[in-house]
Amino acid sequence: MRASQMLLPTVKEDPAGAEAISHKLMVRAGLVRQLAAGIYVYLPAGWRVMQKIAAIIRSEMDAIGCQEMLMPVINPAEIWQQSGRWDAIGGELFRLKDRKGADMALAMTHEEVVTWLAAREVHSYKQLPQLWYHIQTKERDEARPKSGVLRTREFIMKDSYSLDVSEEALQDSYAKHIAAYDRIYARCKVEALMVEGDSGMMGGSVSHEYMAYADAGEDEIVYCRECGYAANVEMALAGADREPPVSETPSEGAVDLLADEVKPTPGAKTIAAVADFFGLPARAFLKALVMTVGGGEDGRQVMVLLRGDHELSELKLRKALGAGFRLATPDEVLAAQGIEPGYVGPVPTALPVYADEVLRRGYYVAGANQPDHHRTGVSLEMVPQATFCDLRKARPGDPCPQCMGDLEGARVIEVGNIFQLGTKYSAPMGATFLDVDGKERPIVMGSYGIGLARVAAAAIEQHHDGNGIVWPPSIAPFDAHLVLVRASDEVQAALAELLYAELAAAGFDVLFDDRDMSPGIKFKDADLLGCPAQVVVGKRAPEGFVELKDRASGERRDVPVAELASALRDLLGRG
Ligand code: ATP
Ligand code: MG
Repeated sequence: MRASQMLLPTVKEDPAGAEAISHKLMVRAGLVRQLAAGIYVYLPAGWRVMQKIAAIIRSEMDAIGCQEMLMPVINPAEIWQQSGRWDAIGGELFRLKDRKGADMALAMTHEEVVTWLAAREVHSYKQLPQLWYHIQTKERDEARPKSGVLRTREFIMKDSYSLDVSEEALQDSYAKHIAAYDRIYARCKVEALMVEGDSGMMGGSVSHEYMAYADAGEDEIVYCRECGYAANVEMALAGADREPPVSETPSEGAVDLLADEVKPTPGAKTIAAVADFFGLPARAFLKALVMTVGGGEDGRQVMVLLRGDHELSELKLRKALGAGFRLATPDEVLAAQGIEPGYVGPVPTALPVYADEVLRRGYYVAGANQPDHHRTGVSLEMVPQATFCDLRKARPGDPCPQCMGDLEGARVIEVGNIFQLGTKYSAPMGATFLDVDGKERPIVMGSYGIGLARVAAAAIEQHHDGNGIVWPPSIAPFDAHLVLVRASDEVQAALAELLYAELAAAGFDVLFDDRDMSPGIKFKDADLLGCPAQVVVGKRAPEGFVELKDRASGERRDVPVAELASALRDLLGRG
């Protein structure tokens, strides 16, 4: 491709409001443009990256015997009603009516279509297992599209589905996907960790998420170098604590934490303010949150207790409650506990109480259920109705739940996930088969996703420098950026034209910067776009030499034209 003819609109300025480095660089390098919130155009260079990622995914899915097909984005509502997701999913599902008034949905994933198809085309155990996939657009009306292409309302996913005769057989399809995913991320040079997913704890079904390290990631994981344990902070078991409660190390504060007393704390409503007031660390306090359980106006209230320095894992509380919840409004708190938020405490309370495990031990300062007062000497023995459960987010420094080693933390991007669905869709949608004994049984399913744009963005997050993107060769928009230093110099121009033709013939993807522009601008653009090799045709053209720059290491050397192809092959790792 000639730069003079290519739609490659590089820009100097970061897009307004962008925080993620991948967002900034994808816009600046001319890879994408935002049409509307969370809706993106892929420009030619960006689309080349997506196609390379797709090709890697395709080859690895094909290698495990997964069959490529294409399922439609627009779906009749019926299949979503049969699966129960028409009602279970809220605003995230785009819905519309066709001209006859029939309800339609824009597919946000394709379990429904796959199950519909399986119900019609799979009849016997002899046809199983089946592995199907497509690389197709998904539509989701995300509440908060953000971070460039990382969370968008329209995106391309590779989603595959396994159909098996039994849970045991599903394990095999699942293992094949794990092997394929490991190879896909390795080939894309995206360092990703497989962690247990949300459903893992919900009894029965198993899932895993692939998390790529990146500061721009929305998710946070903790992991242990000793034993390899890794989990989302919302999920990681966080029961144990290394340090004893503050009440067992009395030297830490002037206040007697063991004495059951009500003390005036004028104006101090937050943990930070009360901690300041008493001169104690946040760990010495109880955080009492009143939650309203269930959706509507008429939900019931419960009290949730955490240590002052801990954060609530909403996921864990949802599991403990077996229902959704929200923070109670000030009016609801007043009605339920007789006091406004800020001075709420568990002594006394008539509400059901859910207390984090670490609170089994120690004495704390808590709200006194009186305006401007807190109570010292509060232990959970004073709250007989308390149910203890693991409710807090794990954090770096916590002991590893597996080996007691030190947990470390990292921000991550979820680049893919794998899910053992079992008969969740096949049972309600009637996707059954006849087993060896002629008995009708629901097909056992799995589903497996990879977001292509997230792989591209994660690669940028992991491979960039102050000048721009440093693409891994496998997914770079071009192998080489051929820079003609002076377009007006006939010898340079002729050599560059020759190399452009020869390198293409030798199988390299080349972007030829033939523009009549200053060398400085061309070099800046080449670094920004980040193709692995830069071939610079300049001063030494008359001698038959070009400069070869390795974008990753910055290393440059003069190479005779006759050796260029082999030097390029080395640089790209294509020995
Ligand atoms: P998240 O928790 O980030 O919302 P998800 O659990 O909804 O992800 P899935 O429905 O399992 O994701 O989709 C599979 C894959 O598709 C994800 O692992 C991710 O790579 C990608 N993906 C999901 N939602 C988006 C989105 N809004 N924009 C871009 N990629 C997405
Ligand atoms: Mg989602």
